[in-house]
Amino acid sequence: MSESEIYLNDAKSLALVIAAIRHSGQISRSKVVSQTGFSRTLATKHINIALRAGLLNEGEPGISTGGRVPRLLDFNPSAGTFLIAQLGASRLSVAISDLSGRISEIQEFNTEISLGPDAVLAQVEEAFDVIILKCKINNVWGIGIGLPGPVEFATGIPMSPPIMPGWDRYQVRKRLVDKYDVPVWVDNDVNLMALGEHAKLPNEKSSELIYIKIGSGVGAGILTHGKLHRGAQGCAGDIGHIAISDTLSVVCRCGNVGCLESLVGGIALARDGLEAIVNGKSKYLAERKKANKTISTRDVIEGAKSGDKWCVDAINNVGNQIGRILAMLVNFHNPSLIVIGGGVSAAGDQLLAAIRETVFRRSLPLATRDLEIRLGDADDGVGLKGAAEMVISELFEPNFLKQWINSGHPNGLLTHSR
Ligand SMILES: [Zn+2]
Repeated sequence: MSESEIYLNDAKSLALVIAAIRHSGQISRSKVVSQTGFSRTLATKHINIALRAGLLNEGEPGISTGGRVPRLLDFNPSAGTFLIAQLGASRLSVAISDLSGRISEIQEFNTEISLGPDAVLAQVEEAFDVIILKCKINNVWGIGIGLPGPVEFATGIPMSPPIMPGWDRYQVRKRLVDKYDVPVWVDNDVNLMALGEHAKLPNEKSSELIYIKIGSGVGAGILTHGKLHRGAQGCAGDIGHIAISDTLSVVCRCGNVGCLESLVGGIALARDGLEAIVNGKSKYLAERKKANKTISTRDVIEGAKSGDKWCVDAINNVGNQIGRILAMLVNFHNPSLIVIGGGVSAAGDQLLAAIRETVFRRSLPLATRDLEIRLGDADDGVGLKGAAEMVISELFEPNFLKQWINSGHPNGLLTHSR
């Protein structure tokens, strides 16, 4: 233990004091005492540590009950800034966040994840550097990144990601730590979307949440008691490669056959749409292909909305197959909220109805009694929000907090692994 480090038990109670103030707006010292259940001496000790670290402001005088007028305490969200990024197969979003998770300076870029980590992370770093310069940021405290593939969370290393050639075991965290000298956390994009959805409306319902992304691939992020369930290696929720069929005709990107995403993901929809044209089954898609030379997931979704029978059936099939897997997850995990996101969720109510019908038909009545299933808002930056939440929760995690609180910033620390 370094000289400036505090004991873990102290860090645990310190984290509770900081959380009480962070979630309260302006708060008096006696309220901190009553909310945490700590003695006045202990609460005061931690408040002073947090004040020294610049995490709190002393605000307006409160109401005096005789004697000295106490000053109200306020969390100082601008003590530190996070750089956050969400990488998709072909899109990159970057932004900054303050310590309260408020996001600003959102920038979007086209990219190709398949160009490999050197090219894509150089693009991320360039975007970060532009924001740092423009906003004159001199207090970067951490970086959070979401990648569209499995990530070993403890090390920040992507593991055999199917759509990310060249990224397998690339040291994403190390590269960014070397450049910025701040702690870096990397996670799977769907996990961050689940965290972001919870952060938008933190309540009991969103604390037991499954976020399903139906994009080019299919994946799930799972929250229990408001915390991400990552599993032993960090790949919990990777449902895209659950076998749902014995068909040998479709080989998945993972090399296996019959995987969920190889049959109902966005790439599968576009592929099946082309086949439907060849077989003369969709007039709508045939016309779209004539106009645009190609067929995308979007065309199939638009076709379903305009009533083309093949497209309607295709979207219903996606809903039914996703619903079957979700019904298993519902029986297994008993969530109270399921949010459907990703590009294919643009199919809207038709997709939602098919998913709901299957889930409610195939799950235990008790498990679905209060279950809400809804679509996520398109393009609401939920992944970026989740990236900020990830950094905040890791930064204030007692084991990590104790390492940096006395120096007033986490810079130069190796990212804590759990
Ligand atoms: Zn697969």
